[in-house]
Amino acid sequence: MTALLEQCGHSVVAFQDGAEALERLKTDETLELVVTALELPGIGGLELCWQARTLANQCRQLYVIAMSSSHDHRRLSEALDSGADDFISKPPNPYELSARLRAAERWLSAQRELIMLATRDGLTGILNRRAFIEQASTAFDCAKDRHTPVSAIMIDIDHFKRVNDRFGHDAGDQVIQQLGSLIGRNGALAGRLGGEEFAVLTVGRNEAEAVIEANSLRCEFGQTEFRCDGSPQFVTASFGVAEAGAKDCLAQLLQRADHALYAAKDSGRNRVIAASQIRLAAELAGASHAVSLANSDRCAA
Ligand code: GH3
Ligand code: MG
Ligand code: MG
Repeated sequence: MTALLEQCGHSVVAFQDGAEALERLKTDETLELVVTALELPGIGGLELCWQARTLANQCRQLYVIAMSSSHDHRRLSEALDSGADDFISKPPNPYELSARLRAAERWLSAQRELIMLATRDGLTGILNRRAFIEQASTAFDCAKDRHTPVSAIMIDIDHFKRVNDRFGHDAGDQVIQQLGSLIGRNGALAGRLGGEEFAVLTVGRNEAEAVIEANSLRCEFGQTEFRCDGSPQFVTASFGVAEAGAKDCLAQLLQRADHALYAAKDSGRNRVIAASQIRLAAELAGASHAVSLANSDRCAA
């Protein structure tokens, strides 16, 4: 099988049993096609088809071809009902296999496009709201299981209506794109929640570490020059940060980061406020608008 598939130009990872295949499928998202015999040692081929289908349902393109030496039609229908996309006889005929792989590639490329359209924000290319919540939930639960700290950063561009009013919607779009690509770089789990509001989930970072990251994003964004009407313009954003407590669910974490974002807006904008700082921020804002919050108003040189 490996030789046949490689002849068709594919990279192949071979397995001896279903459990090994499943483990690799779970951890390696670059795998897009599974060819499995139904007669497998350990977990059977039908179970592997089923489990692969479950993985694919989590917004991942995965095509499953089941193979059997049996010509029993019940076996074929069982395989398709268990989640296989196609069925070939074993041993496979090379011409038939190669044609079926071409059909699989057509399906995979359409699927890739659909997943992209369903999960990505059209303007920035980062996750849209629904996909962000979905992927953040999975990452959040995983972090909780491993007792890894997890924090959220909520972001809102400052006085964005003015940017639109002064320079037009296209200029506003450019600003949104810039912030989107900044927060989504290096594969960060980042999403555009709507309008000019964004969120990042930082797994493995506690509140203080997430504040440092938010501050560096804030500085970099604030120093980005936009060419509007031929003149250089600068735009800022406000950030709210929270770390998940032991009993928090994702919605609660995002809500606390959102409250911190409101505090950042209320206390003067262009700053990072952590959930644990909210009361302090409110007191400082009340005492004097000129007071600068430590660790949130200065950019590294
Ligand atoms: P604040 O500092 O309090 O956040 O003030 P703001 O002006 O940013 O206020 P608000 O968050 O309410 O403004 C959001 C504006 O974003 C309103 C809406 O017209 C604009 N907007 C939403 N989506 C888009 C978009 O896709 N492109 C552009 N150019 N503007 C958008
Ligand atoms: Mg807003
Ligand atoms: Mg705004």
